[in-house]
Amino acid sequence: MTSGAEQAQVDGGRRLRQLATVHVAVLKRATPKKLADLKALGIDSVLDLVTTYPRRYLDRTRKLDVKSAAIGDEATFLATVTSASGRSLGGRRSVVELTVHDGSGSLAVVFFNQPWRVQQLKSGTLALFFGKVGDFRGTRQMTNPVVDVVAHEGEEVHSDRLLRFVPVYPSSGKVRLTSYDLGQLMGEALRRAGAFADPLPPLLRQELDLIDRTSAMNQIHQPESEHEADAARRRLAFDELLRLQLALGLRRAVLQRSARGFTHLPIDLETSTRNDASLVSQLLDQLPFPLTGAQMRVLAEVSGDLSQSLPMHRLLQGDVGSGKTIIALLALLSVADSGSQGALMVPTEVLAEQHAQSLRTLVAGLVHKDGRPFCLELLTGRTRVAERRRILEDLRTGTVDVVVGTHALLTGDVAFKELGLAVIDEQHRFGVEQRAALKDRGGQKRDPDLLVMTATPIPRTAAMVLFGDLDVSVLDELPPGRTPITTHWARTDLEELAAWAAVRQAIDRGEQAYVVCPLVEGSDRVAASAATQVVDELSATHLVDLTLGLVHGQMKADQRRQTMEAFRSREVQVLIATTVIEVGIDVPNATVMVILDAAHFGIAQLHQLRGRVGRGALASTCFLLGEARTEDARTRLEAMEATTDGFALAEVDLQLRGEGTILGARQKGTSDLRLATLATDGDLLVLARDVAAQLLVDHPFLSGLEVMSEELRLLLDEDEAEFLFKS
Ligand code: ADP
Ligand code: MG
Repeated sequence: MTSGAEQAQVDGGRRLRQLATVHVAVLKRATPKKLADLKALGIDSVLDLVTTYPRRYLDRTRKLDVKSAAIGDEATFLATVTSASGRSLGGRRSVVELTVHDGSGSLAVVFFNQPWRVQQLKSGTLALFFGKVGDFRGTRQMTNPVVDVVAHEGEEVHSDRLLRFVPVYPSSGKVRLTSYDLGQLMGEALRRAGAFADPLPPLLRQELDLIDRTSAMNQIHQPESEHEADAARRRLAFDELLRLQLALGLRRAVLQRSARGFTHLPIDLETSTRNDASLVSQLLDQLPFPLTGAQMRVLAEVSGDLSQSLPMHRLLQGDVGSGKTIIALLALLSVADSGSQGALMVPTEVLAEQHAQSLRTLVAGLVHKDGRPFCLELLTGRTRVAERRRILEDLRTGTVDVVVGTHALLTGDVAFKELGLAVIDEQHRFGVEQRAALKDRGGQKRDPDLLVMTATPIPRTAAMVLFGDLDVSVLDELPPGRTPITTHWARTDLEELAAWAAVRQAIDRGEQAYVVCPLVEGSDRVAASAATQVVDELSATHLVDLTLGLVHGQMKADQRRQTMEAFRSREVQVLIATTVIEVGIDVPNATVMVILDAAHFGIAQLHQLRGRVGRGALASTCFLLGEARTEDARTRLEAMEATTDGFALAEVDLQLRGEGTILGARQKGTSDLRLATLATDGDLLVLARDVAAQLLVDHPFLSGLEVMSEELRLLLDEDEAEFLFKS
C-alpha cells in the first residue's frame, strides 16, 4: 500500500492479491512492538490482518442500568467514577478499587494487578465498563472489566454515539496486543484499502441477497448493529464456501477433461433382458434374497457410470447392514463380464480376510462365458511368498478377476493386466492423493472406475466439502426383516448387572453376544493385554461358565480366524473383542452387545460397533457401560440411546466436534474456512454449491471471472491451485 498502489484501483477496487503483497509494517499504528505481536499471531500481510475476523462482538447497545443489573449478568455500563483508590498487596500484586455511578445506582469495580488504573480512572472520569457482574461477600462487583474511557472530568460527551458494536478478536495469551489495538489497526488498514474488487457479479449478488465485498469487509470489523455484522458474516462466509465449491467443481472438470475411461457393460437387473451367461446374471439367479428398492436404485446409478466412458467417481453411503457388499460385487462382476479386472480394498488386513471369505461364498460356482471359473483372490501382507508370486503373476495375465486386499494393492509390485474398477470399502477418508495414485497407474491406457463405500454416514454438508468432486449414492433402506436395536446406557451398578443378566438370557435362548473392550491408549500390544484381562475378569464373574472367545489385532490370522469360526458355528457363546470387530463381521445370531467404557468411544465408532448386532430377524440390544465424565460424552451416549439412524448420529457428531475432525486437517481448501462452519452454515453451503455449479457452466474454467479466479489461486492450497490452474 505505497501511495502509488493506493491509487491503483484496478477494476474498481482493491484485490486481495494486492493486500497479500503488502506487509502490515506499512500501517502507521504498527509500532515495532505491535508488529512483533502481529507476527506471533501469524499476521504478516495486510490480507492476513483484514481476514482476521472478530470472534464475537460486545453489544454495547444493550446497556444496562447499574441499578437493574443482577449478579451473573454480562453488561456494559456507562458510568462515572465517584471514588478511586489503589494499594499494594505485597510483591507485584496490587488492587485498585473504584466506585462508579450511572444515575441509577452505584457499583464496585475492582482491578487486580493493574495499578495504572488509578491514574486512568480518576474520580469524575466517564467510561464504559464491560464485564460480568459478580458477587463479593453479598454485594455486586465487577472484577477486571474491559474499560473504554469516554471522557475525563469536565469533557463533554455525546454518549449515544459511543454505544455500538465492538469487535472482539481472537486473542492469544502470548501477546499483549489487545482487541482494541487490533481494531485500530484494522480501521487504518480498511481506510487505506478503500474499495474492494468484488468477485461476484452485481446481479448475482442481488439475487442471492448478499452485500458487496467492500461493505462486508468494513461491516465485519466495524458494524453499527448486529444486523450489519450478520450480513457481513453471511457474505464473507459465502465467499469462503463458494471458493471451496468452485475448487471442487474445477477439479472435477480438470479430471474429466483428461479422462480416458472404460466403457463397461451396464449391470442388467431385468430377468427378461439379461444375458444368462453373464456373471451378473448368475449371481442374481443364486441370490437368496430380492434386492431392496434402494439397492436397485443405487445399482442403476452405478451401472450408468460404468457404461459411460467418463471414469466413475462415486461415493456410496449406506448404514451398517444396508447391503453395500452386493452392490460392489455386482459392479465387479459386470466389469469382469466386460473383460477387465477389479480390486476391492479395505483399511485392514483383518477386514480383507473377512471380505474375501464372504465374497467367496457368494461367487462360488460362477463361470465366465467361456467356461473359465470366476477367480477371486485375497492378497495381503500375510499372503505366503509362493502364493503371492502366483497371484501377482495371475493378476498380470488377467487370470484373476477380482483381488481383495488393503490399499497396499495400489502401490508396490502389484500390476494388473487391466484394472477396470477399484472399490474402496469402509473408507471415506480415501484421499485425493490415493485417487491420483489410481489414475496414474503405470502402463495402463485407461483410468479405472472408482467406487468408494462408507458405513460412516457423513453429514450432507461435510460430504459436499469432502466429496464435492464425487457423485454420491445413498442406500437409505435396510433389507427387510431387521428388528431395530434397543440401546441402554447402564448408568448405575444395578443397570450394569441387568446388562450382564441380559447376556446370560440371550445365551440361554441360544443366541450369542459381543463384549467390546475399552479403548486403550497405546500400542496394539497394550490393547491386547487389556483385552486378555477383560476375559479373565468376566470369566470369573459375570460370564462365569460361558464359553468365551477373544479376538484382538495382535493375534495371528489363523488363530483369529479359528475363534471367529467358532463364534459363527455357535461354539463360542460370547465373543470378547477389541475394535477389530468394528466392521465386516456378520453373525445374525448375535443379539446382545456390551460396550465397556463406552464414553471413551466416538459416536461413529459406537455406531459401527453396534451395527454388529441387529443383523437378523431377532430383536437385539446394545448396552453402553460406564459413566460419562464430560458433557460431550453424555450427549454422545444419549444420542446413541435415542437413535440408530447413522445420519442423525453423524449430525450430532458434527455439532459436537466441529468439522475439523471430520474433514481432517489436511483436507484441501478447508484452511480457507475462517468464518464458515459446516455445523451451522449448511444452507449457505448448499447455496454456494449451486452457485458454483452455475458459474462453472456459464464461465468454463472461470473464464471471464478474473477476480474470482485470482482469489481462488491465492487462497487455495498451493498444490491444489497448481493442479487446477496448470492448464
Ligand atoms: P454393509 O452395507 O454393512 O456392508 P452387507 O453388505 O454386509 O452390509 O449386508 C449385510 C447383510 O445383509 C448381509 O448378511 C447381506 O447378505 C444381507 N443383505 C444384503 N442385501 C439384502 C437384501 N436385499 N435382502 C436381505 N438381506 C440382504
Ligand atoms: Mg460392508
